[in-house]
Amino acid sequence: MTQPIRPDASRLLLRRVREVAATVVDRQDRLDGITAEIADAMGAEVCSIYIRHGQNRLLLTATMGLNAEAVHNTTLTVGEGLVGLVAERAQPVNLPEAAAHENFAHRPETGEEAFHSFVGVPLLRGGLVVGVLTVQNVRPRLYARDEVDALQTVAMLVAEVAASHEPPGDNNIGEDLRPVRLEGRVLNAGVTLGTAYMHEVRLPVQSMVSGGDAAAEIGRVDRALEEMHRALDDRFHAADLAGEGEHREVLQAYRMFAEDRGWLSRIHEAVRSGLSAEGAVARIQEQMRARMRQMHDPFFRERLHDLDDLSHRLLEHLVGEAGGMRKEALPADAVLITRHMGPAELLDYPREKLRALLLEEGSHTAHVVIVARALDIPVLGDLKDLPAIVESGDRVAVDGENGQVFIRPGIEVEQNFRHAMHAREERRAQFAVLRDKAARSADGVEVSLSINAGLLIDIRQVTAVGADGVGLYRTEIPFMVRSRFPDVEDQQRLYRRALDLAEGRPLVFRTLDIGGDKVLPYWRLAEEENPAMGWRALRLMLDRPQMLRQQLRAMVRAAGGRDLHVMFPMVAEVSEFARARTILYAEIDRERRRGRGGPAAVHAGAMLEVPALVWQMPALLRLTDFISVGSNDLLQFFFAADRTNPKMATRYDLLSPAVLAFFAHIVDSAEGANQPLTFCGEMAGGVLEAMALVGLGFRKLSVAPASVGPVKAMLRATEVAPLADYVRSLATLPDHTVRDKLRAYALDHEIPL
Ligand code: PEP
Ligand code: MG
Repeated sequence: MTQPIRPDASRLLLRRVREVAATVVDRQDRLDGITAEIADAMGAEVCSIYIRHGQNRLLLTATMGLNAEAVHNTTLTVGEGLVGLVAERAQPVNLPEAAAHENFAHRPETGEEAFHSFVGVPLLRGGLVVGVLTVQNVRPRLYARDEVDALQTVAMLVAEVAASHEPPGDNNIGEDLRPVRLEGRVLNAGVTLGTAYMHEVRLPVQSMVSGGDAAAEIGRVDRALEEMHRALDDRFHAADLAGEGEHREVLQAYRMFAEDRGWLSRIHEAVRSGLSAEGAVARIQEQMRARMRQMHDPFFRERLHDLDDLSHRLLEHLVGEAGGMRKEALPADAVLITRHMGPAELLDYPREKLRALLLEEGSHTAHVVIVARALDIPVLGDLKDLPAIVESGDRVAVDGENGQVFIRPGIEVEQNFRHAMHAREERRAQFAVLRDKAARSADGVEVSLSINAGLLIDIRQVTAVGADGVGLYRTEIPFMVRSRFPDVEDQQRLYRRALDLAEGRPLVFRTLDIGGDKVLPYWRLAEEENPAMGWRALRLMLDRPQMLRQQLRAMVRAAGGRDLHVMFPMVAEVSEFARARTILYAEIDRERRRGRGGPAAVHAGAMLEVPALVWQMPALLRLTDFISVGSNDLLQFFFAADRTNPKMATRYDLLSPAVLAFFAHIVDSAEGANQPLTFCGEMAGGVLEAMALVGLGFRKLSVAPASVGPVKAMLRATEVAPLADYVRSLATLPDHTVRDKLRAYALDHEIPL
């Protein structure tokens, strides 16, 4: 037997192992050869390689010195035995007397009881433990530090060898453990790290068939239902949901479903057909799921999700497992993962343990998303195949700013992430300091910063971030989350609440921008070839003036005694605006005639979203009180590039000479009209973009709440006069983009981006 490895011999060992890896073709022979080399170099009787399979299993895959029969038979789970301990800690374990350790797990088939000392090191790849390498000796001894170091070095190579092999059968070495990066849609922003927790709603129903006493089973259903109602009331009551908003509506609608007579009578009927109480609930649930699979309408899918959740909840009460199940084993930093879930299901989890919610489906108006936003939980949706890729217990890094998720990110990415989170916190703290400071440039130019909002919960941000008002309140969003078209009273309540939440700061209502891809569940529109350019927004409202009248009436009433700002989307010609404005004033007159005071002042504006309108500005400005540039639509028509087509997303740059020239023309056309020119497209939320817009002459920007701080910080460091000359000079260049030039300008002038 050779002497134990010397420090300088570790390179030699590495070379020998590499040689085996490079020259031996057969997978098993290669791993066997490696164990023989290591055992020899370490002067050990045993060297073994355990490879991780799936999330938890460590399989003895090669050994020198243990019983050959144990290979491909002996497994340990992560955390089990000394091998499992190494995998769990991702650290070496070095023991002179292995059996004396509390974690020691005796596996007689290996014959390892003959060996006293044990050293195990993790096989790490991309920050993940993909297996464990062990060395054992008969003689009790503590392995020297340099021996452990050498073993760790060689383990790196072994990990590569292990992973580079096509495993036999279903033994998928590390395949499902590799780091994965997914892109999704940010539904509620936030950056966080946590542990995956799969939201499972499987509940085994033991006895599907009733013992024959249908009345007794119906009694059980009814009692369980009663219990469920009580529990739901308690849950909603206890949920830490701030203030008013659409989340309340969503939960109320859910609550109403729980009272649905049709659902209950179908369950009763199923019991009468011979099923047990549980069987009947499960059966009706299956029927609904089958319907759900065929349903493409997002709204009805939401409703069916609610019913699915309710069925499950009722089952829990029937089998006596209500509530508790989901909280068990929930990590303290849970990243909840599911295809979709109902709004009430989210409330079953203790808020303090939830770091983020990741959905395979999901949209801004999904009920669970609305509730998650009220709870201030970061949410990403549209994460295709997510539940298939991740398992409970995986580490997950959620970048809810850039719409990315890293599954099993590895040590390095985690570290980067921690830094990013820290930096984000620091930035937040800086912006909080800026909150009450003026949005004034270094050379004294005032710029008004407002926010864009869709739900009531967004409006609350106006005070939180210190914005001047709400520059765009997209009224179709609350319509989209409701189950029926809100009548004038409903709308009035909603708009009044919106104005209240703005606390006296101006709030600009935009009339409904429906049609195209913004569908209302209760109002089906014919499919169109080209919906963005189709029957939508003001076009549709002018053709259905009753709807416009009702909406404006509700706004006029809600504003009673306060200023009313209304703007109309997708105006293509002045006459359209004129007609809309006439309807607005007719509603104001109507209110006055009825002795209701009406708004203190009225401001009627047009959105510049269709290029044709830009060429009618002199005529338009004679009728408007303000103008607002909706660059999301305006630029998609300007470049003829669909804003929803990912292939077009980077094709043209918003910071191109053509766009700057176009916007300069808009600013110049509004000059002298003595009315506000606002910019409310999402583009203004980008700091560099906002800098360019201020340089062009825009003095009112409406942005996402999170952008108010960064844009203000940029502004306070900027001298607008020289910037204006520079930006205008860029507008005549032949470049595809001037982004780099603007960035260089910012760097040179110490403007924070
Ligand atoms: C726009 O088009 O720029 C805009 C603000 O409206 P929306 O994004 O709602 O279409
Ligand atoms: Mg628009």
